[in-house]
Formats: sequence, C-alpha cells, structure tokens
Amino acid sequence: MNEATAQQHEVLVLGAGYAGLAAAIQLAARTRKRGNLRVTLVNPHDTFTERLRLHMTATGRPTAAMDIPQLLDGTGATFVRGWVTAVDAEAKTVRIDDDRVLHYDTLVYGLGSVTDTAAVPGVDDHAYTLDSPQDAALLADRLTRLDDGASVVVAGSGLTGVEAAAEIAERYPRLQVVLLGRQEPGANLHPKAKAHLDAALARLGVQVRSGAEVVKVLPDGVELADGTGVPAAAVLWTSGTRVPPLAAAAGLTVDERGRVVTDSALRSVSHPDVHAVGDAAAIRQGYGVMHGTCQGGMPTGVHAALSILRLLAGKQPKPFRFGYYHTPVSLGRSDAVVQFTYPDDSPRRIVLTGRRAAKYKETVSAAPWATFARMKKMPASGALWPHGGRHTRIRSTK
Ligand SMILES: Cc1cc2nc3c(=O)[nH]c(=O)nc-3n(C[C@H](O)[C@H](O)[C@H](O)COP(=O)(O)OP(=O)(O)OC[C@H]3O[C@@H](n4cnc5c(N)ncnc54)[C@H](O)[C@@H]3O)c2cc1C
Repeated sequence: MNEATAQQHEVLVLGAGYAGLAAAIQLAARTRKRGNLRVTLVNPHDTFTERLRLHMTATGRPTAAMDIPQLLDGTGATFVRGWVTAVDAEAKTVRIDDDRVLHYDTLVYGLGSVTDTAAVPGVDDHAYTLDSPQDAALLADRLTRLDDGASVVVAGSGLTGVEAAAEIAERYPRLQVVLLGRQEPGANLHPKAKAHLDAALARLGVQVRSGAEVVKVLPDGVELADGTGVPAAAVLWTSGTRVPPLAAAAGLTVDERGRVVTDSALRSVSHPDVHAVGDAAAIRQGYGVMHGTCQGGMPTGVHAALSILRLLAGKQPKPFRFGYYHTPVSLGRSDAVVQFTYPDDSPRRIVLTGRRAAKYKETVSAAPWATFARMKKMPASGALWPHGGRHTRIRSTK
C-alpha cells in the first residue's frame, strides 16, 4: 500500500447507511487537503435513510430529508447514485446498475441488511417490511385505508416488532394490533424494563401472542405451526435479517449469514483490501460476534476509515473494540424504555422509562446525522465510543 501513496489511491465506499456514511465522512474530512486519496460513496438514493425511524414512516409521520451530496459538499468526496450489482474482488472493480464499472484500491463494504423475507413462504408476496422509506410508506398507505376494527399482525416480537406494534396501535386505536413471535417481547431486558414494556403494550391495546411460529403468510392472515390461523388485513414482517449476497458471490470469506468475516482491524480475512462495516460485517469481539445496530455500526465505519489512513501511512491498523451501552425502545411517541447494558449487551439494573426515556430515544435517533455533520468539521469528534474494557478483549492475537 505504501507504493500507492505516491499515486492517487481510490477508496470506494459501498452503502451510505450509518456505517458507510461514517466511513466516507471520516476519510474525506481527514484527507480533504491531500490530493493523493479519492473517496467515492455509492448509494441508491441521495437521501439518508434513518432506519431507526422507519416505524414512524409506517404510520405516516413525516421525517426530515437528509441530503447526502449536500453533506459531502466541501469534503472532496464524490457521490455516485446507483445500485451495486457485483463486486469483482480480483479485478478490484464494482459494477453499478449493470452498466457502469468503478475501480478501487480499497473497498469499504457497508451494504447493511434487510429483513429476511425468504425464510417463510408468502412473506415476499403478502407482507410489508420496514426495509426502506418506500416499503414503510406502502404500509402507511394501507393502514389509512383499513376499516375500523381490522386486524394488523406484526410478525416478529424482537424490538423492531415491539416498536412498530406500539407505534401502529397508538396512531390507529381503531385497529386491532397483534404482535406475534416465538419469544416474549423484551425477553432480553431486565425484569423492570420488561414490566414497563408489557404494561405499555397492554395500555395501547396490543394483543401479544408469544410462543407463536408463523409458517406461512397468506393474503388475509398468517398460518401458525400449530395449524391455527390469525386473520389480518395487513401483515408487517420484522423477523430475522439477511445481508446482500454480493460479498459471497465475489468470493470473500463470509459467515453462515453471508456477512463478511473481518480481522480485528475490520479487513476481510480473505481480501485485506476490503474493509467491512455495519450490519454486513461479522465482527468478533470478546463477547462474540457483534449484532447489527446503529450504535455499533457507526464506530465500525469510523474505525475502518482510521485503519485505511494508518495503512496508507505505512502503519499497522489498530484492533477495533466496541462495547454496547444501551438499548432504547420506543413505545409510541411519548413513552419508551431505555435499557442500559453491559458491554456484552446484557442488561444492567439501570432502566429509564416514560417521557424521559422517550426524549432519550429521540436524542439517540436524531444523533447520527448531527454526528456526521460534526465529523465533517471535526473528524476526531466521531472517534470516541465505549471500547468495552475486558468484555471486548480477545485473547488470541489473530
Ligand atoms: C425499524 C428499525 C428500527 C431500528 N432501531 C434501531 C435502534 O433503535 N438502535 C439501533 O442501534 N439499531 C436499530 N436498528 C438497526 C439499525 O438500523 C441497523 O443496524 C443499521 O441501519 C445498520 O447500519 P448499516 O450502515 O450497516 O446499514 P444500513 O443503515 O442498512 O445502510 C445500508 C446502505 O446500503 C445501501 N445498499 C444496500 N444494498 C445496496 C446495493 N446493492 N447497492 C448500493 N447500495 C446498497 C442501502 O440503501 C443503505 O443506504 C433498527 C432497524 C430497523 C429496521
């Protein structure tokens, strides 16, 4: 890589989500005065998708439009609007919309994840998802047209399902919201937090059915493993995630879920000129492989940028370390529960509930865009996150 510093080094960042945008801004802001590094960011839309707010979009609540090219303005980074259709890891090229080819010296792979709609028959055909603002808007439109008393099934009792069920029930008290899933909602929270969450769902009239395994989604409801059915005028699917198959197709080493397996510096273990970040990466810490969150995704983007700059300067990249610190869950617009966690994501006893928690959640949801804007001016401001102490230390040096 030292040799490349003499010429212009091309860094291509795929995906302008929480992680990819963090990487692009960090790199561009730290190198804007250098002529030897070019940063290009590829994303299908020029507005940033606040995934954390898609359950709000699904109930017709407007969210702010955040313009990516405007954010990059002045940093020297180039924005390419397009859909990545293939990565050639040997030729070091990326195909966009099937007809354009971009070359890279270093690739940052941040294509995120989407809901797994393939595992259960009928999901693709009949269920709504919260994968993009367009998907959420389709559900929003459907909800406004449902008759009073119609039933809406939210399949998946993880935190995305909980937030969506609460949001729909609060916005449309005239609808019957059923939250279905294998586990109890909030199962991983401290009992205090779980009790608040249960009470909020009950207050909002959400019917909770845990221990339920959906085996099929039909045009008018879902079928469960015990042979019974639950009628629904609309089904929202929030269960499971999958990542784009592009990394696996390119021959990168991926885990059983298709995520790029990284070394401690976030480089692909098979292709070290590829750095993987966010939900699309399988990143090992002392407590296990990180699960997809915005709180962990943004630090991976910043760290990948710093690693690339160290490598270009002929230095060894530092190991990435991250410890979780909170799980904020919205329960409609004026209630929430914030579970503070140990670095390995297990719950502490400290819990925030009610309006203060709702304010906290709103601050967290609004923070990423403000952080990107701040990083543009002061890149070092984005390089601070909890490293997790002993929880994230990995004994083996490999
Ligand atoms: C409703 C909902 C609520 C959530 N709430 C929370 C929360 O409260 N806290 C939290 O920490 N996490 C939350 N998450 C999870 C969080 O949103 C993800 O972990 C986070 O978005 C991951 O960031 P990322 O940058 O890896 O991917 P993403 O944010 O998904 O970004 C990936 C980007 O890549 C683009 N892309 C994908 N494929 C291609 C392609 N082929 N070509 C070009 N571009 C492509 C996408 O359009 C997108 O812009 C929530 C998720 C959902 C759906």
